[in-house]
Amino acid sequence: MKVLVSGIVDFSTIDYPKKCSAVIFLYDCNMKCPYCHNLKHILEHKKEMTVEELFNNIDFFFADAIVISGGEPTLQKDAIIEIARYAKEKGFPVKIDTNGTNPEVIEELVKNKLIDYVAVDVKCKFDKYREFTKCEEDGEEIKKKILKIINLCKNNNVFVECRTTYVPKIMNEEDIEEIAKTVKDCDLYAIQQFEPKDAYDEEFRKIMPPKEEELIKLGKIAKKYINNVIIRTVNGVFEI
Ligand code: SF4
Repeated sequence: MKVLVSGIVDFSTIDYPKKCSAVIFLYDCNMKCPYCHNLKHILEHKKEMTVEELFNNIDFFFADAIVISGGEPTLQKDAIIEIARYAKEKGFPVKIDTNGTNPEVIEELVKNKLIDYVAVDVKCKFDKYREFTKCEEDGEEIKKKILKIINLCKNNNVFVECRTTYVPKIMNEEDIEEIAKTVKDCDLYAIQQFEPKDAYDEEFRKIMPPKEEELIKLGKIAKKYINNVIIRTVNGVFEI
């Protein structure tokens, strides 16, 4: 089994909440989110390796968990199952970051007890999905898939986070309210501060990031539907 890898970070304190993790970035994505600061790098870097070679390339001096990220890691179904199994055999908790388009892959991980934490991006209001992400799928379809992932995780004791990167001008309070209402059963909802630097779409590099006060206000809107809400900014993580 070969894995297409775009990058490895040996040590991160932000990718797996409350843990120090090694992060594996897998090649390719089925979306083109205008704020993405990974996509360019992901598409330009592709290294083929076995799972064993991949783990031999990670310095585990500090990491006590594994994050499988991307790109969209579920595009490499067999590879992520093998990575998660390998990590579990070594005793690491495993988190996956996904855009939610392949719930059947998450199901396989959940049912085989290979995953501890699933972070699902909810990119925008569902009727704006196609336009915003340049994804082929309809927003209503993606909504069903995200709800399926939340259900799966809740029924199998896997922590599920939903998260939205808030882009001013493109999104508004109504969008966050609709998203929060929809994903209300998740364990944690995170509103993330949009960071224009290195955004995939040049036009988005000109948009100012939202202020913390604005994010707190949005967090309070989400809190009407979800108990556990945080905001993630360049200055850290704040509970609402
Ligand atoms: S933000 Fe995630 S889903 Fe969107 S283009 Fe980047 S890697 Fe793909």
